[in-house]
Amino acid sequence: TVVTRFAPSPTGYLHVGGARTALYSWLVAKAAGGKFVLRIEDTDRERSTQPAIDAILEGMEWLGLNWDEGPFYQTKRFDRYQHYIDKLLDEDKAYKCYCSTERLEKMRDEQMARGEKPRYDGHCRDNPNVGGDRYVIRFRNPQTGSVKFNDHIRGPIEFANTELDDLIIARSDGTPTYNFCVVIDDWEMNITHVVRGEDHINNTPRQINILQALGAPVPEYAHVSMILGDDGKKLSKRHGAVSVMQYRDDGYLPQAVLNYLVRLGWSHGDQEIFSVDEMIRLFKLDDVNKAASAFNTEKLNWLNQHYMKALPVSEVAEYLQWHFTDQAIDVSKGPALEKIIPLLADRVKTLKEMASSARYFYEEYENFDEAAAKKHLRPVAREALEAVQDRLASVSEWNAANIQAAIQATADDLGVGMGKVGMPLRVAATGSGNSPSLDVTLELLDQEQVVGRIARAIS
Ligand code: GLU
Repeated sequence: TVVTRFAPSPTGYLHVGGARTALYSWLVAKAAGGKFVLRIEDTDRERSTQPAIDAILEGMEWLGLNWDEGPFYQTKRFDRYQHYIDKLLDEDKAYKCYCSTERLEKMRDEQMARGEKPRYDGHCRDNPNVGGDRYVIRFRNPQTGSVKFNDHIRGPIEFANTELDDLIIARSDGTPTYNFCVVIDDWEMNITHVVRGEDHINNTPRQINILQALGAPVPEYAHVSMILGDDGKKLSKRHGAVSVMQYRDDGYLPQAVLNYLVRLGWSHGDQEIFSVDEMIRLFKLDDVNKAASAFNTEKLNWLNQHYMKALPVSEVAEYLQWHFTDQAIDVSKGPALEKIIPLLADRVKTLKEMASSARYFYEEYENFDEAAAKKHLRPVAREALEAVQDRLASVSEWNAANIQAAIQATADDLGVGMGKVGMPLRVAATGSGNSPSLDVTLELLDQEQVVGRIARAIS
């Protein structure tokens, strides 16, 4: 069975690049009816934090990238790594290296001075028992031949073994190093497909050599390219949100973010909208673009708007409720969220905007929007507002058609166009010059509330 994994280092939030890698990895597992493993690579104790772990798990859950096994924590698996370090030492596939820091630095300086790439010169490789109690353990990397693998995204890749030196697999304090933990974990967790960032390409031949020394099967690899900002530079905080949860906070639906991420470096004809089921059915690692992909906020906005309109309104309501709570707007005494969503979905790009622009349904507004009030309310509108107030106060059944008729009748009485009544009324009822169609907006407010707000605008 196919087993894939996502293996973040918990040194920060789940960022867009990591989330896309996780999604691709998840899709490979789902498409094959396989398993998706979550592994937290927390061996760097100085940089790994619990808040970062929580943020990663929260981001995965928000996106719906559920894992079948894990989360596993590398810091809880040191005995496994030790077991294999001992095994490699026993089999002479690893050795103790007693070289001092001074010696290594000198070697390095000399190599650099000769214009060579610094690499360990193998001093302790064939001089066992140099002695001393301070040593690291190095993997005995093959010195001839090459390592080849067929990357699903980048095609055939080959590294000459002469380019790889004897990797440190355990530090002088005995702790295993990053590359070694990955190897053991991928093996013990039966990972068949390693999907990860392209920054790990240079680790791959080293990891393959260790796997082979252990007699472990070599998984398939796919190295995903990086994501650039819209200015062509590596995506970073400068470009705005890079944390997945920031997208939630900014009012994006997880469905839109997922759809956005899957298309960031992958395409299927000119199709833009993919449900999760379609992604699972259509996504192929081999179709992922090896060129870097550029972030495009407009496209994300477009997708978000699509999903605000296309998802079942009850589902959108749940996500929207979060934003009302976040903005401290109590919606318990106003229209059901299911009613306002269809009115607003076309007019805003995010749920955050939707919540803030719907505030007047649930609370008295504090002040009129200044520009709108200047244009439509003062000093011109007293007559229109008094007339429409009377008409609206005497509507017997409060619904959109009757509201519309009252506004129309007011305009007719005064011999003016609808706008001369409608705009002042809109500002009076909502505080702003920008709302969905007045009849349905007022219908969702209650009659007394509307009449009261008109009174307030006139006073
Ligand atoms: N922990 C690594 C990272 O966050 C990923 C390692 C891997 O996927 O092999 O970059």
